[in-house]
Amino acid sequence: MSSTTVRVPAKINLALGVGPVAADGLHALATVYQAVDLCDEVHATSRDDDEIVVSVHLDAERERGSVPLDGTNLAVRAALALREATGVTAGATLAIRKAIPVAGGMAGGSADAAAALVACDELWGTGLGRAGLEPIAASLGSDVPFCLHGGTAMGGGHGEQISPVLARGGYQWVFAIAERGLSTAAVYAEFDAITDGVVTEPEVPDQLMAALRAGDAEALGAALSNDLQPAALRLRPELEETLAVGRQCGALGALLSGSGPTAMFLAGDAQHAMDIAVALAAAQVCVDVVQAAAPVAGARVVG
Ligand code: ATP
Repeated sequence: MSSTTVRVPAKINLALGVGPVAADGLHALATVYQAVDLCDEVHATSRDDDEIVVSVHLDAERERGSVPLDGTNLAVRAALALREATGVTAGATLAIRKAIPVAGGMAGGSADAAAALVACDELWGTGLGRAGLEPIAASLGSDVPFCLHGGTAMGGGHGEQISPVLARGGYQWVFAIAERGLSTAAVYAEFDAITDGVVTEPEVPDQLMAALRAGDAEALGAALSNDLQPAALRLRPELEETLAVGRQCGALGALLSGSGPTAMFLAGDAQHAMDIAVALAAAQVCVDVVQAAAPVAGARVVG
């Protein structure tokens, strides 16, 4: 094997319940993830030396310089973690093609880490497969196991404890991409300031699970929730207007994705998604609009 390509989807949180800070300093989460068909690709190629080299092609020119090319890139960290776990010493060149917005609340870095794990497992013939890669994924970040898994799933612990949920049907989403990203750490700090540390154990709403079981888009739209949204809106008040445009267009649900600033809108069907996308673009409340179907599979070899 001298090269392989892995495609990996962005995530959204249909529900994001944020609880108290645990002993390790991280918040307890109760979340429901869904993988959406807005994908990065990682192309991994063998090398004659033992270097892990990364390059990044950004679909959006405005994001130039926003993704590190050193050992802090999450894809590089993933490759190194796989080497550590398996004793492999081979190198790899990882060429990332990014379509997932950077610092957009859609887990773009975690997605690349998951893709790099799958790509290097294939390239180096380490044969861990999805189940074997999961603990390494969890050590890299809370969202990384879900990016491996894909579909629709609950996330407990800090989000890394994945369990599948019974979900019927497919959904049409529209995303309003903001000009600048938001730091996840800054949003959590704002959350802490708002709640002053007084938060209850997080739970996933029953109505949301019932809507997913029934495949009922209208009920799902009404049940979407995100505990981080007030904090993200305090940091970016202009996002209220973005959400309002989608609501005026009859979106079944309108919410920020994770820590934001990407706004997500649930449409009734493909034509409705197009109407929402056109309204967002016309209102000039974002720099880009993307439509994507969900759920889709997690990180997978495509070539
Ligand atoms: P999350 O939803 O998991 O909180 P996010 O989608 O808001 O994350 P990311 O796109 O993952 O944010 O990027 C967060 C930061 O991580 C970026 O600002 C960047 O400096 C760094 N980073 C490291 N590796 C990558 C990568 N492969 N792709 C994108 N960002 C990366």
